Amino acid sequence: MDVWCAIRTYPKHATELGNPIPTEPVFFLKPSSSVVDFGIIDSCDGDVHHEIELVLKIGPNNEPSHMALGLDLTKRSIQDHLKEKSLPWAEAKAFSGSAVLGDWVEYNPKAEYSLEVNGNEVQRGSLAMMSWTPKQLIAKLANWAPIREGDILFTGTPSGVGPLSKNDEVTASLYIESEHILSHHAKCV
Ligand code: ZN
Repeated sequence: MDVWCAIRTYPKHATELGNPIPTEPVFFLKPSSSVVDFGIIDSCDGDVHHEIELVLKIGPNNEPSHMALGLDLTKRSIQDHLKEKSLPWAEAKAFSGSAVLGDWVEYNPKAEYSLEVNGNEVQRGSLAMMSWTPKQLIAKLANWAPIREGDILFTGTPSGVGPLSKNDEVTASLYIESEHILSHHAKCV
């Protein structure tokens, strides 16, 4: 299984980090060994940022078959340093435990989701807010990438990213047309 990730798919998040809104989607990879369950996030040193994302599982014919909530954890100051030097982001994005992944449910294009930190909602997104539909995103990736059935795609984060500190309590929730489907909890250590 390969772990593909899209960036700047939510215009408001691109601009909150001072980045231009891309006209074509941009992708990077995380190693499959960086995937961990919700429960404990062991990299919370005040620099690691949460990025709540909807994650798609790629099914037959490059169609999304399932979806899950994920956290694309990012070492922001390392990323800023690497960006400044035009270097690859691997150290900031592909470290151990950097891909937090929840339970799979059947794909639904009406998915919405939110992230709470210590009971306060900090991020909220929906597939409808993205610059590209999930099918368009997968199709753009498939233009050049050797994607395979069973690969997963982090679809990018909405605005509101921020640092996680030790003892923070994180709750990620998934909704379909405002109906609560599931929540995942994690404790930062
Ligand atoms: Zn991300």
